[in-house]
Amino acid sequence: MSDQRIVGKVATREPVSVGDYFKNIWDAVTTTVAGMKITGRYFFQKPITVQYPDEQLPIPDRYRGIHYLEQDKCIECHACERACPIDCISMETVRHGKELEWISFTIDYQKCMFCELCVYPCPADCIHMGTEFAFVSEDRSEFNLDLLSYKGMSRDARIRMKEAAEKKAAKEAAKKAKAEAKAKAEAEKAGGDPQAEGSDG
Ligand code: SF4
Ligand code: SF4
Repeated sequence: MSDQRIVGKVATREPVSVGDYFKNIWDAVTTTVAGMKITGRYFFQKPITVQYPDEQLPIPDRYRGIHYLEQDKCIECHACERACPIDCISMETVRHGKELEWISFTIDYQKCMFCELCVYPCPADCIHMGTEFAFVSEDRSEFNLDLLSYKGMSRDARIRMKEAAEKKAAKEAAKKAKAEAKAKAEAEKAGGDPQAEGSDG
């Protein structure tokens, strides 16, 4: 009984007009051509697959990659360390007057979120975000990266310290010589001038 109703429904479907028939054909052709235009454009373009790591896309200037430090300019003010919202910067030095002996300057890249907030407060403009991003290791400790390019004191700092020490030594020697000359003069004055006394007699 129900089969008969379905058959009856199909049989009474509205016939498609000739205009609609050709419009459907037109729509099918135009939409296919529109789609194939895009396909064709890419089909004749040079492939853009980048064979990383042998090839690499250009990195934008403002890319926020792994930091680099201009160590000679750094004054160990800790402004970057204080600005870091997740405390992943730490540094260790020994001060020799104005000169710095570097032990470590590390950033823990297990925590760093590359926000760049450590860069802006630097008064010496010496910490920057670089373009290096590939950082792979099986050892977690290697992600606590030391940014120092040398340990200890810089060559210039050693020269400055040596010059300052020499200057200090020369100053102390001059002071000592002056004190000795003064003491000798006072001693001579107290004991009289034997040459002057001899010529009078
Ligand atoms: S980029 Fe952000 S999270 Fe990373 S060290 Fe600098 S301040 Fe800290
Ligand atoms: S803010 Fe700049 S100068 Fe100060 S410790 Fe950090 S890197 Fe060095």
